[in-house]
Amino acid sequence: MEIRTYGDPTLRRRAEPVGTIDDVIRAICERMVEAMLRANGAGLAAPQIGISKRIIVLDVDGEFHVLINPELIETSGEVDQFQEGCLSVPGVDAPVERATRAVIEGTTLDGKTVRIEGEGLLARAIQHEMDHLNGSFFLDHLSPARRQSLLKEYQRRQREESS
Ligand SMILES: [Zn+2]
Repeated sequence: MEIRTYGDPTLRRRAEPVGTIDDVIRAICERMVEAMLRANGAGLAAPQIGISKRIIVLDVDGEFHVLINPELIETSGEVDQFQEGCLSVPGVDAPVERATRAVIEGTTLDGKTVRIEGEGLLARAIQHEMDHLNGSFFLDHLSPARRQSLLKEYQRRQREESS
């Protein structure tokens, strides 16, 4: 399994900005897209495949994006709660509060600056993947008690799967 899971130190590190978009970066993006599609995910951040660089891919409601050095410009709208999971914490999910609108700017593989304005699920995916670039997880948005119980559940499932 190529996707790193909870406990991997890369997932807790703040990812480094990308300098030049070269063949190495293009290859990383390709691996990320493949991993996301294979896992049926709505998005993926480079640290999730063990690469501490600021790259995210998104695939939500027909919107597909590969973004390098994305910056969160703003979150707005209402805050809603929705069941959220993560490819790096497989098998568990929990309701997470997020803004219903999120705007990011980043660079495409062609070197163009683009702005993406997301609402609903796309806004949620944007905020979720941006968290990964900052070494954070959806779990960090939960109360400590809730986080503990979810992690216990996750570890129990991991043990069951490996036995
Ligand atoms: Zn995630």
